[in-house]
Amino acid sequence: FHIPFPKNEPVLSYAPGSLERAQLKAELERQSNTTIEIPLIIGGKEIYTGRTGKIVMPHDHGHVLATYHKAGPEETKMAIEAALEAKKDWANMSWIDKASIFLKAAELLSTKYRHLVNAATMLGQGKNVYQAEIDAACESIDYLRYNPYFASLINQWEPVSSSDSFNRMDYRPLEGFVFAVSPFNFTAIALNLATAPALMGNVVVWKPASTAVLSNYYLMQLYKEAGLPDGVINFVPGSGPDISNVVFNDPYFAGLHFTGSTSTFDGFWKTIVEHMDTYKTYPRIVGETGGKDFVVAHPSADPKALITALIRGAFEYQGQKCSAASRAYIPQSLWKEIKQELVDQTESILMGDVRDFRNFVNAVIDEAAFDKIMGYIEKAKNSNVAKIIAGGQGDKTKGYFIRPTIIETQDPHFVTMEEEIFGPVLTVYVYEDNQYEEILQLCNETSPYGLTGSIFANDRKAINKAYEVLRFAAGNFYINDKPTGAVVGQQPFGGARRSGTNDKAGSPFNLLRWISPRTIKENF
Ligand code: GLU
Repeated sequence: FHIPFPKNEPVLSYAPGSLERAQLKAELERQSNTTIEIPLIIGGKEIYTGRTGKIVMPHDHGHVLATYHKAGPEETKMAIEAALEAKKDWANMSWIDKASIFLKAAELLSTKYRHLVNAATMLGQGKNVYQAEIDAACESIDYLRYNPYFASLINQWEPVSSSDSFNRMDYRPLEGFVFAVSPFNFTAIALNLATAPALMGNVVVWKPASTAVLSNYYLMQLYKEAGLPDGVINFVPGSGPDISNVVFNDPYFAGLHFTGSTSTFDGFWKTIVEHMDTYKTYPRIVGETGGKDFVVAHPSADPKALITALIRGAFEYQGQKCSAASRAYIPQSLWKEIKQELVDQTESILMGDVRDFRNFVNAVIDEAAFDKIMGYIEKAKNSNVAKIIAGGQGDKTKGYFIRPTIIETQDPHFVTMEEEIFGPVLTVYVYEDNQYEEILQLCNETSPYGLTGSIFANDRKAINKAYEVLRFAAGNFYINDKPTGAVVGQQPFGGARRSGTNDKAGSPFNLLRWISPRTIKENF
């Protein structure tokens, strides 16, 4: 029995006059005019702790969309207990019955929940309609359809037997519970971090990012309606240390599924090592962290394709993607040709409220992000080896708005060429046309990360050279395309070096981390 190879969810256009546009607009209106109260969900029960936080619209931070209750140590303990209780049935349910729940969730998300999660992702996380659609709707649906297909490949693999002895596999989940910690920037990543381990028979304590609690709460409603038993995924928003301290002290902590900053992941890993004696089993540690993603152009590159990739790769979703293009190496001859056009297109990007579908960029997620990004822009303003050639303005009076910014530097090690900014800032280093190979080496050595990167060239030898020199510089390597926008089932996603454990979200490799198989031999 096989689940057929799925198709990717088609991206809806939301064109003027379309039904989906009218439905989404109505949902945006509804969510803008209500302030919901979001509980924790532990063992299927709603829990109101009285310690609350607010979710605001990044483009209008006086506007509260929701209040959410925060888990503390006590509720985290309850979530672990509820998970372990739910595990008794969940771990024994057949894989195909589990798969059917997630396949149903995919269908519900494609139909009934689509506008709900898209609107919440737009308003709460500051995505434009297209960015929300490819994330909260399509990528989420794709995980829910592809992971059951990958699980069917794994769960049906059996070893060789003979006539007098029979060998088989028992695909056990991990012995304990999995801790999922998700970021604000992709609703789909949050979905995958909790559902991938659950699909493989695990139970999950899920701490969503505080700024994404609204869309993430609707995901919990989706799972419930699809038939996920209570306690399989437990929803505990709150402050990181309050929750993680309890989790990492628990003997049944068996796995971490994480996307977020490199420093948080490092801290978690060290704490886990410190508590190693506590655990019943070696925990599986799976994480995707930062990036300092490159675009290297060769003199043979197509100028138009390069401009589009730089603008989209660097500025879509205000650059708040681990995969965002943030440093570009461009040969002198090509730079002369494209500079003005790149600057003009950047300056004409429309910025504003997500509810006006013409806006290409919105505000950055919160004040801390705004201050950090503006700090980097200030460094460029005060430098004599760097110059701002587009954007550079920021204003946080009403919303956290930063104009898409391009920095040109003469120093390939200038701070904005090396450190992750996680905002709408692209730094360009212009090199002599005959220095392409040196530039590849430099690109490889400049950053500690290894997430994504692009090479633009029409010369096949130049492509091959980049392919070779940059082998470990990117886990997702793009030739003549922007370094963002991996699609589930098409480009399994993840990087190594300081970008994470490279367990490739949206592939069988990720799911393999969530099982601990037993081999059984029986003699006849
Ligand atoms: N998968 C996303 C992409 O390809 C990026 C994920 C992230 O930002 O963590 O653009």
